[in-house]
Amino acid sequence: MILRSLFTYAAIALFAALDSVNATAADQPNFVVIFCDDLGYGDLSTFGHPTIKTPHIDKMAAEGQKWTNFYVAACVCTPSRAGLLTGRYPIRNGMCSDKRRVLFPDSARGLPTSEITIAKALKGAGYETAAVGKWHLGHLPEFLPTSHGFDSYFGIPYSNDMNRIERKVSQQQLAEDENFKAYDVPLLRDTEEVERPADQRTITKRYTEEAVQKIEEFGDKPFFIYLAHSLPHIPLFRGPDFKDTSTAGIYGDVIEEIDWSVGQVREALEKNGVAENTLVVFTSDNGPWLSFNTHGGSAGLLREGKGSTWEGGMREPTVMYWPGKLKTGIVHDMGATLDLLPTFAKLAGATLPDDRVYDGHDLSPVLFGTGKSPRENLFYYHGATLFAVRKGQHKAHFKTKISYVRGAKLEEHDPPLLYHLGHDPREKFDIAEGNDAVIADLKKAAEAHKATIKPVETQLDERLPPAK
Ligand code: MG
Repeated sequence: MILRSLFTYAAIALFAALDSVNATAADQPNFVVIFCDDLGYGDLSTFGHPTIKTPHIDKMAAEGQKWTNFYVAACVCTPSRAGLLTGRYPIRNGMCSDKRRVLFPDSARGLPTSEITIAKALKGAGYETAAVGKWHLGHLPEFLPTSHGFDSYFGIPYSNDMNRIERKVSQQQLAEDENFKAYDVPLLRDTEEVERPADQRTITKRYTEEAVQKIEEFGDKPFFIYLAHSLPHIPLFRGPDFKDTSTAGIYGDVIEEIDWSVGQVREALEKNGVAENTLVVFTSDNGPWLSFNTHGGSAGLLREGKGSTWEGGMREPTVMYWPGKLKTGIVHDMGATLDLLPTFAKLAGATLPDDRVYDGHDLSPVLFGTGKSPRENLFYYHGATLFAVRKGQHKAHFKTKISYVRGAKLEEHDPPLLYHLGHDPREKFDIAEGNDAVIADLKKAAEAHKATIKPVETQLDERLPPAK
């Protein structure tokens, strides 16, 4: 009798446990992060571009949220990606450097596996995970996505302009037809090389097909797809269907193909009946590469671009889409890619270890319209050096350096340059004079942040021994 009661109790407990697992799984939303490379704040029609057409992204913005104050963790590729995936400023895990600002094909290291990526955190909560596209967090097997919580990977391990073997013609001429062969960039599936050089003319299409296939494959299981396009980073390539179709020239063609891709992802989510259970985030890793003229994008009214800590380098055109769930409209609150890890973890019921400092906040109050963004400040790093801080609408620049211009000088500012980003999003009118209290407050925020940084070795400087 006792045995039978015990047995019944155990069976009830087991069913209750299974039930709770099922209930949790059913409540767990899917996440798709679409991350462009070097897309400017002004490059989408919904963000004001007059000649690039982005109907799919515009539609998601209109039916979801358009974020006007959304930032990345750094103004160049590698540290920005590290910040998104770990929810930590790259200074905390060595993914930035004043010497080599990104990883290169001869780099010996990458994102330490002791880091908790979004994929790793979500795996712990039962998610299926896939990385598609540009990685740039270490090209050696121990640093690739499959070592960082992703079940699969399909993409190029670093920037599409690396390993350049043809130097006779200009970068702009290279962005044509057969010239993809001028870049000895490998295409990987998981850790295996499947094509070299990668045919970049079809890369956006193939990334898209891979993402769509993953959506079909995952079915009802909760999933996270990180779709990191390798474009519009130069050299620019686009598929035959998008050749010379945009009023905005080749740069417009490339963005319009990415927009098509966004439409394909949305359609796949709808076809598979999971759109209403999926949060899609569209943004980019850093601002436009202005030194490439019409092959670089536009930061719109924001100052400067990629590589700089002016707004154009780190504020990105961002759209969030989750039909029937989000409070729709334009969001002027601050947010950052650093916030995705804690936000996703909260929504997925994933736990994060408390043995490290996180720099992200749970954005759920803004997503669902229940409150303000918990993000009050942003720290702007140039390499491993803190250059600027934003708190509320004020931003102080302690140091500035314009991006990718030969001979550009580092300038130090004491008192710092001070701008009111609400009144002056272009950062044109320095209001430091007479605003000592505001400057003191921003300096205090910078010092408080610096006090939380423990020095770690950089992962970006060490090189592999030269090939024999
Ligand atoms: Mg980039």
